[in-house]
This record gives sequence, structure tokens and C-alpha cells, in this order.
Amino acid sequence: MARIAFIGLGTMGRPMAQVLRDAGHDVTGMDISPEMREAFVGAIAPSSDTIAAAEVIITMLPEADHVARVHETLIRAAAKPGALVIDCSTIDVNTAHALALEAMSHGLAMLDAPVSGGPAGAEAGTLSFMVGGDAANVERAQPILLAMGSKITHFGGPGTGQAAKASHNMICGITAMAVMEGFALADALDLDLDKFYALCAGAAAQSWTLENRCPIPGVVPDAPSSNNFDPGFAVRLMAKDLQLAQAAAKSSGQPTPFGAEAAKAFTKFAETRGDRDFSAFYTTLRALPEH
Ligand code: NAD
Repeated sequence: MARIAFIGLGTMGRPMAQVLRDAGHDVTGMDISPEMREAFVGAIAPSSDTIAAAEVIITMLPEADHVARVHETLIRAAAKPGALVIDCSTIDVNTAHALALEAMSHGLAMLDAPVSGGPAGAEAGTLSFMVGGDAANVERAQPILLAMGSKITHFGGPGTGQAAKASHNMICGITAMAVMEGFALADALDLDLDKFYALCAGAAAQSWTLENRCPIPGVVPDAPSSNNFDPGFAVRLMAKDLQLAQAAAKSSGQPTPFGAEAAKAFTKFAETRGDRDFSAFYTTLRALPEH
């Protein structure tokens, strides 16, 4: 069992750290927020001594700047040579690549390993990991990742985990827009939306988004739309992921016009309704009262 320093005990990090502990690992949780520390037994403020003692260091932080700062001020300065550093945050491809090279030049083994599956997947230990880094390090990380997740896909060298995450989430964002527009049109044409949902679910319009984020209250009882648009997956996170996909599209030179539209629409919506589930965007399409 490994001695693990886990940095970032938020919505995702706390349950991930907990399943690692439940699997028998020696986990010390760290967070800058006293409130977050309270929710994880034995958690402390970020500490060089704990980093220095760890065989594995995991970060689950909001954005690239946070990850870069923790690498600069804590990990590169204190981690012992050969320590395995796994960043599970969703950040941009270029930063992930640069951080991995820098970590390797300091004698550390680094993986980018963003996740899909949300808080429910984190609690259940069923996350899906998209991993970039050396194959030998991925093999070394297997027991750790498999404690938190049920699927690991190794895409290639440093940054490729984030590349997969950005591309995957862009598909989700565009699909979300397609599902919401389809229902808006069906509603405007006075269709029975229960029947329309059943048709789509059994036909070519079927998707994860349709089945889990149908935007019409009451059609899918467990969907956020049936629960006041409580997340689910918050609009601000969708906007962030689509912006990361746009950054990747720009630096690779690949046009992604639908991804760009989805990024623009969710980013604007996030200015006022960032904490709602992304399917709440439907209310603006149909000019419905706000929830
Ligand atoms: P969160 O904001 O709930 O948690 C982040 C935690 O990091 C907070 O507790 C914060 O206090 C802590 N933190 C910030 N700076 C720190 C520092 N310098 N040192 C120590 N702790 C610090 O975020 P989250 O929802 O858990 O998401 C984490 C990452 O996972 C993000 O990159 C997000 O995009 C990604 N993600 C989130 C979801 C989701 O559904 N929430 C799903 C998949 C991926």
C-alpha cells in the first residue's frame, strides 16, 4: 500500500481520497481551505514535510494556475526523487505537457490523468481515467488509479490525457446543445415530449446526454431538469471544459466551429447561471421562467 499525499479535497478530491483510504492506502489529504479540511479526517494545510514523505502525490485542483503553483512552490521543491505525481485536474494540454517535462527534469514521474464520471463516480470509485505519460509510470499508477476508477485509457505521452479529455468534453458540450435544440423545436411544434423522448432514446438521436440530461422537467425523473436544474454538471464546469477544448483547437490549428459556438453559449450562460446544471440552458432557448 502506498503513502499518498492528496492535494485538493473539493467536490471530486475528497471522495477520491476517501476511496483510496478505504482501499488501504496511507492517505494524507491537503487543502488550503479549512472548511474542506474539516470534511476529511486528518487533513492538513499543504505541507512540504508530507510531500517529502509521499511515494505518490495526487492533485485534484480547479484550474491550470493552481496546479502549476502547487508544482512550483511545493512538489518540485519537496518531493523525493522518483515520486509518482498524478494530476487528475482538468487543465489545458500545453500546461500539462510543460509540467510533466519540468517534473521529469526534477527526477519525478508524472502523469496527467483527468477523469470523467463526476462526484457520483468519485464516491463509487468508478471514474474513467484518460492518461498521458510514460507507459512504465502508467503501470506503476495502476493500483492507485484502479482504486478510484473502473477504466483507465492510456493515450500516449505527456499531455495526451488532457487532449482526450478536451476532445471528449467537446463532444459532450456539442451533443448537449443538439439535444436541447431538438427538444426546443419539438416543443415549438407542439409534439408530445414524452413520446418524442421515447422515440429519440430508441433511434439514431440516442446519447448519454439525452438519457441523463433530457431538458424537459418530468420526462426523465432522475435528470437535473426534474429537480430544479440542480447539478449534475454545473454550467461553469461545462464552460471551462469547452474553453479548454477551444485552446487545444487553436494551438493544434484544427477548426471546431460547433465547439466554438457551444463554448460561447455556455460561457455567456455561466455569467448568470453558473451553478445550475448545464441542461438549464434549455430555459433560455425556449425563453422559459428561470429556475
Ligand atoms: P472544487 O473547486 O470543488 O475543489 C478544488 C479544491 O482545491 C478546493 O477544495 C480548494 O480549496 C482546493 N485548492 C485550491 N487551491 C489549492 C492549493 N493551492 N492547495 C491545496 N488545495 C487547493 O473542484 P472539483 O469540482 O473537485 O474539481 C477539481 C477538478 O476536477 C477540476 O479541474 C474540474 O474541472 C475537474 N472535474 C470536476 C468534475 C465535477 O463534476 N466536479 C468532474 C470531472 C472533472
